[in-house]
Amino acid sequence: MSSDTHELVIAGSGVAGLSAAVYAARADLDPLVLEGDEPGGQLTLTTDVENYLGFPEGVGGIELIQRGKEQAEQFGAEFQHDSIEAADLDGQPLELSLSTGETLRTRALIVATGASARWVGAEGEDELMGYGLSTCATCDGAFHRGDDVLVVGGGDSAMEEALFLAKFADSVTVVHRRDELRASEIMADRARDHKDIEFAWKTELVAIQGSQEDGVTGATLVSHPDGYPGEKYEAGEDVTVEEVDVSGVFYGIGHDPDTDFLQDTPIELDDDGYTQTTDADAWATTATAVNGVFTAGDVMDRDYQQAVTAAGTGSMAALDAEEWLEATTAASRDSARQISMEAGD
Ligand code: NAP
Repeated sequence: MSSDTHELVIAGSGVAGLSAAVYAARADLDPLVLEGDEPGGQLTLTTDVENYLGFPEGVGGIELIQRGKEQAEQFGAEFQHDSIEAADLDGQPLELSLSTGETLRTRALIVATGASARWVGAEGEDELMGYGLSTCATCDGAFHRGDDVLVVGGGDSAMEEALFLAKFADSVTVVHRRDELRASEIMADRARDHKDIEFAWKTELVAIQGSQEDGVTGATLVSHPDGYPGEKYEAGEDVTVEEVDVSGVFYGIGHDPDTDFLQDTPIELDDDGYTQTTDADAWATTATAVNGVFTAGDVMDRDYQQAVTAAGTGSMAALDAEEWLEATTAASRDSARQISMEAGD
C-alpha cells in the first residue's frame, strides 16, 4: 500500500474519537483524527460532568475533552480540523473526500462522528437559530439573565438545559408534549423541585416570533388535554393556542446521528441513521459491514449515549481496528511470500 495511505483515520473528536485515538496511538497506529465541524463534540456544550468515573467532584466537559486530546497527542495522535463529505468504502484503501477538497486514503476508519441536536420544526426557527433560539443552554444561557425562557422537551437534555438556564433566567418553562417526563428520576426531580422552573404539559411550540435584530420576542404554544397537540393543530383540530412573551427558546429534544456521508456506502444505517455493527444487539464488536471500518460513540448508540459508554466503545473500536490491521497485514505478507516462492525467488 502506498506511503501516503494512513493506517487509521478516526472521524470525530468527541469522547469516543479521543478514546479511540489514545488506544490507537499507544498501539503505534499513528491515527489521524478528523475533528469535524464541532471539535470535541457534545461534551463541549456541557458544564459539569458528574458521572464520569474517576472525578468525584465532577469535571467540566471542555476540560475533559482538552485533557483527552492532550493525552492522545502525547502518544502521537495527529489532529486535523476537517470533516468527511463523502466516502468510497468499496475497496482498499478506503477513500475519504474532505470538506476542504482533499482526498485521504486509509486502511482503516473509525466512525465516531456523534450526533447533532434535533430541531422542532416551529415557524421562525430557521431565521432565529442563534438569535435567541438555541440548542445549547450551556453556550447561550448566560445571554438570558433576568429573561423568561422556554425549554422544549421532556428528556434528560431538556431537564439539564432547564436547570442550567434557571441560574440566569427569571423563569424557565419546560414545554412538553405529554404529561410524563422521559428524563431519569434524579434529573426530573431536580427540575420539578426547582422554584424557577415550571412545566407546560401536553403543550408544543409551533412558532417563534422575533427578528435577527431584536432576537426572540415571543412564542406560540398549543395544548390539548390528550397531549401531542402539534399534530392536532396541523390537522386543523381544536387546540388551545397561547402567545407567550419570552426572550429565549432552547431545544432539548434529542439528537440525530451525523452519518450523511455514509448514505451511499455499504455501511448499514438504521431507520434513524445510526451506524450498525455486524453484531449490533450484543455490542460484541464495533466492526461494520465494511472491512476495515469500525464505529463508536453516540453515532452507533441510540440507547445509552453517555460519555463513559462513548469512551468505552471508542477504545473497543481502536482494539478492533488494531486486530484487523494486524490480521490483514499478516495475510498480505503471507500471500506475497507465497507468490515469491511460486516465482522461485
Ligand atoms: P430523549 O431522551 O430522546 O428525549 C427527547 C425528548 O424530546 C422527549 O421527551 C421527547 O418527547 C421530546 N421530543 C422529541 N421530539 C420532539 C418534537 N418534535 N417536539 C417536541 N418534543 C419532542 O433525548 P435526550 O433528552 O437528548 O437524551 C438522550 C440520551 O442522553 C438519554 O439516554 C439521556 O439519558 C442521555 N442524557 C443524559 C444526561 C445526563 O445524565 N446528565 C444529559 C442529557 C442526555 P416524548 O417523551 O414524548 O418522546
